[in-house]
Amino acid sequence: MAVLPLTYIPDNVLRKKTRKVTKLTSEMFSLIEDMIETMHVEHGVGIAANQVGRNLRIAYIEIPEEPEENGKVSEKLSYLLINPEIIKRVGTREVDEGCLSIPGFRGNLIRSVKVTVRAQDIEGKEFRIKAENLLAQALEHEIDHLNGIVYIDRMQDPERLYPLDTQEKADSETSIMTTNVWNLRRPAQPVVRKS
Ligand SMILES: [Zn+2]
Repeated sequence: MAVLPLTYIPDNVLRKKTRKVTKLTSEMFSLIEDMIETMHVEHGVGIAANQVGRNLRIAYIEIPEEPEENGKVSEKLSYLLINPEIIKRVGTREVDEGCLSIPGFRGNLIRSVKVTVRAQDIEGKEFRIKAENLLAQALEHEIDHLNGIVYIDRMQDPERLYPLDTQEKADSETSIMTTNVWNLRRPAQPVVRKS
């Protein structure tokens, strides 16, 4: 296993719709292992193959463990997604989001409340996920990546994009940085509203 270099905007590989996987090769198996290791090292919740420079329709999501109210720790949810597609979206909500390919920033945008995703597993077998909350958000975020979309493309308002380390930087410098990142967005169709 190896940690792979991440791609950052404005790298063109992040703007291409990724290629469908027709047969999982041994090279793809090792790519998947490396993607998982890279995501862990970078403390991501999800990673798409084009974020490590590979034009393939593969993503991995791992929702961190969260202590439940009764003190028990819920199970860590992890999903390997080959050729994933969102087949249903329900409702809209405001979320806060960051991306390994846009380091140092977070943004506030609209995502679906619930999604249904169809994908294939490591053996090529089709499965479906019905998700809400953080998992639904992560699924939309990663499947967007595989379609060449990053989260800033879905934002309407530059005021809602903000750098993470505002205290360390002068205000004017921060606003120039934010403007530069904002200018790299390519507006995408907003999330389809079906509630
Ligand atoms: Zn991302």
